[in-house]
Amino acid sequence: MPTHSGLNVELPEIEAPPFDLMRVPGVGAFLGWRHARTFLQIPLLIVSVLMVLHGLLGPSLAPKNLATTLTWLHFRGVLALALLAAGNFFCLSCPFILVRDAARKIFRPRWNWPRALRNKWLAAGLFVLILFLYELFGLWASPWWTAWLILAYFAAVLVIDGLFKHAAFCKYVCPLGQFNFVASTVSPLEVAVRDQDICARCNTKDCIRGRREPASDLVVLQRGCELALFQPRKFGNMDCTFCLDCVHACPHDNIGILSRLPAGELLTDTFRSGIGLFSRRKDMAVLTIVFTFGALLNAFGMVSPVYVVERWLGKLLHVTHKAPVLGVIFAFFLLVEPTVLLGGAAWLTQKLKGSPRKLVPLMVRYSYALVPLGFGMWLAHYGFHFFTGILTIIPVSQSAAASLGLTFLGKPRWLLTGIPIRFVQPMELGFVVLGFLGSLLVTHRLAEEDCEASPMRAFIPWAAVCVVIGLAAAWLIFQPMEMRATFMMSN
Ligand code: SF4
Ligand code: SF4
Repeated sequence: MPTHSGLNVELPEIEAPPFDLMRVPGVGAFLGWRHARTFLQIPLLIVSVLMVLHGLLGPSLAPKNLATTLTWLHFRGVLALALLAAGNFFCLSCPFILVRDAARKIFRPRWNWPRALRNKWLAAGLFVLILFLYELFGLWASPWWTAWLILAYFAAVLVIDGLFKHAAFCKYVCPLGQFNFVASTVSPLEVAVRDQDICARCNTKDCIRGRREPASDLVVLQRGCELALFQPRKFGNMDCTFCLDCVHACPHDNIGILSRLPAGELLTDTFRSGIGLFSRRKDMAVLTIVFTFGALLNAFGMVSPVYVVERWLGKLLHVTHKAPVLGVIFAFFLLVEPTVLLGGAAWLTQKLKGSPRKLVPLMVRYSYALVPLGFGMWLAHYGFHFFTGILTIIPVSQSAAASLGLTFLGKPRWLLTGIPIRFVQPMELGFVVLGFLGSLLVTHRLAEEDCEASPMRAFIPWAAVCVVIGLAAAWLIFQPMEMRATFMMSN
């Protein structure tokens, strides 16, 4: 306990209350407004429609089309930076859910999502599929395919959430949502209860049940959490779409958007409402592995050495089509590499007597520690495209407006691109180093938990995994990169 200098009086430690975004003047009032989400979704829906139209009917050259530039340069960059700086604000503004909610006013879903699919296996598979199709069809270079991807997304949400109740698409299917859920475990903000004592005294539990008409329990005035996260027992950001339904439903104004230690939720294996224990979720561990190693894979797909590897594999396999070659590269990055690295580290941990866990549970538990590093690589990759192409939105919008006969934006200034690569690269390296340090910190905490007497026995093998991934990420950053969906090379 601290003492006051000179007086030698013991002072009580005062824990500062967390920052609460809902208490910020103006911002809190806006987010507390029942239609805040719709207000954020409408502009994104309009932009999505424009992107689809331009993708299907506009120029086929990717750097001149809104569908490709906005999707692959701006949207991904803003999404990753928002996750780093705040939280899952994309899911909050998701335009797909606006269309779904409108459709649900007509078609009421009747079924519950099948029990066998209430996990992340399907979503992890779709995550891999999207990465695969991205490379196979060169989505970044095809406005047409990008437009169809957006349309396919709208169709999938409508079909799945048209048939199944609650937020089945968000929780069990959407690959983009899974990316946001995993990345947001590193975010500094979390939707959480302000005072657990108030929850303990609460009789209605509207945050999960939904606020109902007092006279009729059947009439729901405000839905509760569609993702089955019960606020008093919710822990962390996994599966939270930041939809704020719980905030609006709670009759005691007891839910805020609170600050917390970024990645802090990865340090403990507490029970999480709607999720259970991380250490028991093999499906979720596989999702985090796809997230982390997929970051390396996705970046590898855009550096020069990939062409050498593809040519070499094509000759080795005697094939000319890209799919089998990509299949081998994907299998290496998402199966062989994680199995060797995580399996090797788990085996070594056991040999060093660093943990009482068995081999697979060890791999599951420590896979979550790699999330900060994986996110660092995604940030570096998306940040590269975003910052080097940030200004391309201007000429592309000018060109799109001009094609409709609207000349008020002026002639397209195609020379506008973005920040030169020499300034962006240090930033990329900074993201990777930050992620590397975060992963080391989480790994050390898990090692302390596993082997209190000598944490180094568990820490060293997993720190070595972090070093290997960190070095691979750093190497990727300094390879010549393809300027996907960017018109002019900047340097
Ligand atoms: S968050 Fe609100 S509605 Fe939910 S249990 Fe706590 S006080 Fe009740
Ligand atoms: S209702 Fe559920 S998903 Fe939405 S913000 Fe609250 S906890 Fe997150």
